[in-house]
Amino acid sequence: MAFEGLSDKLNAVFKRLKARGKLKESDIKEVMREVRLALLEADVNYKVTKDFVAAVSERAVGSEVLESLTPAQQVIKIVKDEMTALMGSENVRVRFSNRLPTILMMCGLQGSGKTTHCAKLAKYFKSQGKRPLLVACDVYRPAAIKQLQVVGEQVGVPVFEMGQGDPVEIARRAIMRAKDHGDDLVILDTAGRLHVDEQLMEELTRIKETVGPHEILLVVDAMTGQDAVNVAKAFDERLDISGVILTKLDGDTRGGAALSVRAVTGKPIKFVGVGERLDQLEAFYPDRMASRILG
Ligand code: GDP
Repeated sequence: MAFEGLSDKLNAVFKRLKARGKLKESDIKEVMREVRLALLEADVNYKVTKDFVAAVSERAVGSEVLESLTPAQQVIKIVKDEMTALMGSENVRVRFSNRLPTILMMCGLQGSGKTTHCAKLAKYFKSQGKRPLLVACDVYRPAAIKQLQVVGEQVGVPVFEMGQGDPVEIARRAIMRAKDHGDDLVILDTAGRLHVDEQLMEELTRIKETVGPHEILLVVDAMTGQDAVNVAKAFDERLDISGVILTKLDGDTRGGAALSVRAVTGKPIKFVGVGERLDQLEAFYPDRMASRILG
């Protein structure tokens, strides 16, 4: 299960803390050293960990904790508050445009779950009354077009494709077709690569500049930890993404990506993928995630 190691470690730290009764400043310091280690072992970004520990420590050595009758509870609450803030505090929804259609540009490395999540989003928004159109802009692998058609059929959403043509032209034509057919949500499945590379970034930039997407959502694999965060930083620097979809949270991911990506990029996680099935998508709520991690 995701975050198991981190949850177990933090729970053990807090259990020892609860057994102590009244706390001194030195006790808090010791606890925060343990929290710091647990975060680093969970692959949380070094600077994020450092800032987090500093923020919690500053609040925890205040008189309301040290003089409280339940100091351990107070410390745990502060950790939870700061962890929620770290992940962005609030759920950030997808913005819909007044001018139809709303255009979502999905990007990410190969294998991150991009195509699957295009279909998951189509299903999610279809169930809210939208009329999505999926668009095959990943033209380099014929299998990618086929895969989008298969998942499109599974969720009952049309798929626009023009074979292995120019992805910018495909996106433009798809938007014209959406206008003609009254599809109010266009989801562009763009090409992925094994690594961030210049050619990919140039292509994504051209699509962005031509169609002016309302949202650019980056799909990253939570299992890859800090790599996911570095990928998010690289994409954001080039494309100014509007949010992240963190996938494979059903696996035994350690937590580093979930806890670091917002702080490193400044961009919110909007959804999480929690399984291979096309209904296994959840809107991301920082407070619920913090509760899950802290058990
Ligand atoms: P793409 O190359 O980025 O388009 O990735 P795909 O959508 O083809 O997904 C790659 C693999 O990850 C597939 O086997 C998916 O079934 C799987 N996958 C995608 N999302 C999730 C998820 O949230 N959880 C799990 N366990 N597997 C996922």
